[in-house]
Amino acid sequence: MCKVNRREFLGASALLTVAAEAELLAGPIPPGLDEAAKEDLVASDVYFHEGQVSDTADAVCNNGWIMFEDYVLVIDANFPAGAKLIIGKIRALTDKPIRFAFDTHHHGDHAYGNQIFVENGGVPVGHTGVVEEMKRYETGYYGKAPGRWEEASKGRADLKTSKLKPPSVLFSKDLIFDDGKHRVELMHLGVAHTHGDAVAWLPNERILFTGDVCVNGPYNFVGDGDTGKWVDTLDLAKKLGAKIVCTGHGPRSNAAVLDDQQAFFRALREQVGSALTKVPPEQVKSEQTKAKIESIRAMLKSNAQIARYVSDAAAGSDDGFPSQVAKVYDELTGNKLAGLLHDPHLARHAHARSHGLVTAS
Ligand SMILES: [Zn+2]
Repeated sequence: MCKVNRREFLGASALLTVAAEAELLAGPIPPGLDEAAKEDLVASDVYFHEGQVSDTADAVCNNGWIMFEDYVLVIDANFPAGAKLIIGKIRALTDKPIRFAFDTHHHGDHAYGNQIFVENGGVPVGHTGVVEEMKRYETGYYGKAPGRWEEASKGRADLKTSKLKPPSVLFSKDLIFDDGKHRVELMHLGVAHTHGDAVAWLPNERILFTGDVCVNGPYNFVGDGDTGKWVDTLDLAKKLGAKIVCTGHGPRSNAAVLDDQQAFFRALREQVGSALTKVPPEQVKSEQTKAKIESIRAMLKSNAQIARYVSDAAAGSDDGFPSQVAKVYDELTGNKLAGLLHDPHLARHAHARSHGLVTAS
């Protein structure tokens, strides 16, 4: 779980002044909104909730919701516990039916709450790639060996009383919700954090909900994606011209967070390329690998634009950095990083907990 304070990982470039923070709120606050709702309001009828460990024991993904004239569209289904929290928040604001829950991708912290939305009258929506990824990893649901849901449910009470529900309204490129007042375009921009990521773009308000294509802090899990393609996909996200960016984890921000996320992957790929790929894999020894990973970590930490994306060695099992290095090395060379101190099993699991991929053990 990411034990971070909401301000803790705001780097220098993303630190918002009071004026800039005020600018992030598009439009006036409607009268009668209670304090809690005001905190989530991003624009008229558009809300963003930053997932906190304190919300429920384990619900940490960010959520958004848009109140259309006749229904509510929710961005990300969260875990079941998080889904209940968000449904409660929406119910405090409106009686409109919560008709759609959009999974930005297949990970547990964004999609395992689908069943809760179904029980409350909603339909899970996602890019076709979400279901393709679920077929790959949620083998238990598809009648094969136990998969991620079964593994994650060992450590989560809310999964024990629910079940996986893949999205049943699917789109291959985009899907538009538009009632004349609000418009939300769900779009698959390419491979990034997973092979099935999609974002929600509100062209009228210039608000972008990115899912985990962009995060704001040390939350990048890279095991299911491709960091090279991720950089390209972020280029397309940047071209939308967002004024407000609601990320998948961490505080909401402005367009700079897309640059920062992209700069992190560019620098990581550059550093791994120059520090590790020149040595033949069989010559990379365990101690050398560890030292090189730490020197790459120090190099990236020294860059103020991207320092907040680099996890700390002290974070223990939440330290995703070695597995990020190993993934990039694999992408650049086609080889596993020999001598990585984490065994492959641990490397795959490191930092995955916040994405609902592993148990608490
Ligand atoms: Zn994820």
